[in-house]
Amino acid sequence: MKVWRSIRRAVYAVICVCVLFGHSTQAQTLARVIADQSTIQDHIWGQVSIELALTKGVPYRIFFLNGPDRLVIDFNELRFDGLTATTLGQAEEIPAYRFGSIGPGWSRMVFDLSRPMELVRENLAFDPQQGLAKLTLKLRPSEREDFDAVAGVPDTLRAEQRPEPSLTLGPPSEGFVVFIDAGHGGIDPGAVEGALTEAELMMSLARRLREEFRKYDGVSVVLSRSDDHFVSLEDRIALAHAAQANVFLSLHADAVTEGVARGATVYTLSENASDEASAKLAERHRRDEILAGVDLGQADDEIANVLMDMARRDTGPKSIALAQAVIEALRVGMGDVNSRPHRTADFSVLKSASIPSILIEAGFLSTRQDRENLMDPAWRSKFAQSVALGVLTWADQDKLIAPLRRQ
Ligand SMILES: [Zn+2]
Repeated sequence: MKVWRSIRRAVYAVICVCVLFGHSTQAQTLARVIADQSTIQDHIWGQVSIELALTKGVPYRIFFLNGPDRLVIDFNELRFDGLTATTLGQAEEIPAYRFGSIGPGWSRMVFDLSRPMELVRENLAFDPQQGLAKLTLKLRPSEREDFDAVAGVPDTLRAEQRPEPSLTLGPPSEGFVVFIDAGHGGIDPGAVEGALTEAELMMSLARRLREEFRKYDGVSVVLSRSDDHFVSLEDRIALAHAAQANVFLSLHADAVTEGVARGATVYTLSENASDEASAKLAERHRRDEILAGVDLGQADDEIANVLMDMARRDTGPKSIALAQAVIEALRVGMGDVNSRPHRTADFSVLKSASIPSILIEAGFLSTRQDRENLMDPAWRSKFAQSVALGVLTWADQDKLIAPLRRQ
């Protein structure tokens, strides 16, 4: 039995690196999932299959992760046009899945597993006539012990996944540098409401805000991402430091699962989240990171935390003053903010030692009015004007800038 188990482990071991060669005539275009020909299906005895129809072959690899249990497929590289979080359907064993870019050249699908599973079949069928490919995976329930033994990010992948920040930076920016972090991206869409994703909305809001800051002399802007790809929380912070940013603004529009929430809210970092909702939000962000399958360098955490604690003693009060200036500007500019506009939470993205940092929930994607606001160009302009004004007023009070002139 033991021998059988170890053979099984070896056979279904963590990584399968497989390459399917596409039709040479199509070699120039990226492979794409054919959404309406791809499915997830339950079978007898708790088995489940995943079928992905692809426009052509593409190199991929498969591995499992635990805590929570997931099956991950990385593709080099795949487009997901037309695929949504519900297109493939769902199965008892696979209650949800996500997909998206995880960096240049790599795309990922993550399937949540409701219990430990193992691969019993993995088949790549290729139709040379049509140039189409079909990847079929079949899974069956396995023992916790077996699953945990094979679960983990493969070492080769770990190295690839910690690339230099993908944003290429020129020499450190001049003057007063604003770092704008568009929340989420790529495989991590953030809150989702129908066809709307928080990641996409925040990308366009970040661009609008950049435009606003650029109207002022002596202010430059660096974005954490310029398109829809995944950037880890650590890389966001590293990018801000590399840019020698004077201020860090993270933009979000999350959904709340309980009750109704509306209007802009500004968060600053705290050791202990100020209330249960903040704690839940912070937990969700951490979970998003886990769900994306990225293992943060845990070994360095201890040291990083000590350094951050030291820096926070100084930047903490600055971040609070920054939050208050932005809230005031939003209150005047928008005529309306959340009923409790300043909150604290333990968001990793705010742990940007030595850079005053705030996280702005521009609104709540789960609230209709906020959703409409976020899609309204006029509202976005007012929001951007107010945030820019709030940040620059704070910077002025803090003597970080010479009096600014609007162009
Ligand atoms: Zn968010």
